[in-house]
Amino acid sequence: MSECEGENRAGVVEGGGVWQVGAMMEGLFYAGCGLDRVSKRRREAQWITDRLHDHGSRVVPVWKERNLIRAGAEPVPVALAGVAASEVITRSDDVVILGVDGDGAAWIAADLSSWDEASVTAIERGAKLADLRRVSAVMLSSDAALLAYARGIVHWHRRHRFCGICGSPTRSSEGGHLRMCDNPECQAQHFPRTDPAVIMLVTRQGPGGDACLLGRQDRWPRGMVSTLAGFVEPGETLEEAVAREVLEEVGIRVTGVRYRGSQPWPFPSSLMLGFRAEAEEGAEIVADADELEYARWFTPTDIDRFPEMGLKLPRVDSIARRLVEEWLREMVV
Ligand SMILES: [Zn+2]
Repeated sequence: MSECEGENRAGVVEGGGVWQVGAMMEGLFYAGCGLDRVSKRRREAQWITDRLHDHGSRVVPVWKERNLIRAGAEPVPVALAGVAASEVITRSDDVVILGVDGDGAAWIAADLSSWDEASVTAIERGAKLADLRRVSAVMLSSDAALLAYARGIVHWHRRHRFCGICGSPTRSSEGGHLRMCDNPECQAQHFPRTDPAVIMLVTRQGPGGDACLLGRQDRWPRGMVSTLAGFVEPGETLEEAVAREVLEEVGIRVTGVRYRGSQPWPFPSSLMLGFRAEAEEGAEIVADADELEYARWFTPTDIDRFPEMGLKLPRVDSIARRLVEEWLREMVV
């Protein structure tokens, strides 16, 4: 993510640094695993074979939608090396070379989804299978990003075992960054995909002071309200997707659509693209009942009163939360 683009207006001091209005969002959860993805080397068959047999390589097991961690106050990924790593690689459903760390060691995700759960947790004493979103807030951010990457790409492999063109089986290639159709008549190449989704905080000025629009879906945790979001459709720009989703969900036209930052969201396979947008003057909310239980304007004072209103902001790991917090900070500048 690029640093400090935009107007770079110095704002409040936070955590020892100067927070800047207009700078792109940084430090989002699930971003910044720190590996070099070595996209050229993973095309070399011998290099891949060597990494899979190198006792210095580290193997991160993934089981269905869960990651293997060593539990504790600050959980860490189980990262196997040596003989333990070789055994897991041999018995895995698929492996993906994620990249290489600063010491030159390869990090490899191993899909163990066909194993029974007890066999996976028995790999290492004290290991536990965890839903990443439940533990990421207390993990080192680069560890959470690594596990998110492993989970996301393993998920893609599990869902692309057959060619979408001819229906024949596919096989993993290029260290797990490509699947090739086995049918000699077809030979289609399938690359890992992420689904772009826009997520936006809509704001307005007056009449009762600045406010932001938050809505609620009935399947969300009790009391949680959040920004609007939706998938980008073929043939539209990100800005068009923002405007369309807001109009569809709450009947409001927006202007000043502004990109704020992106976040990998492999739950299971999205990339969240965060935006701000301004509501057209005098716009009234007409919430789409199929999408939302309700949506309304909240002032910063309203948000301060969330605990007594029985409401809460989205989870700390989400870009939705960051969009709201960014706006709240601007309100006090
Ligand atoms: Zn095919």
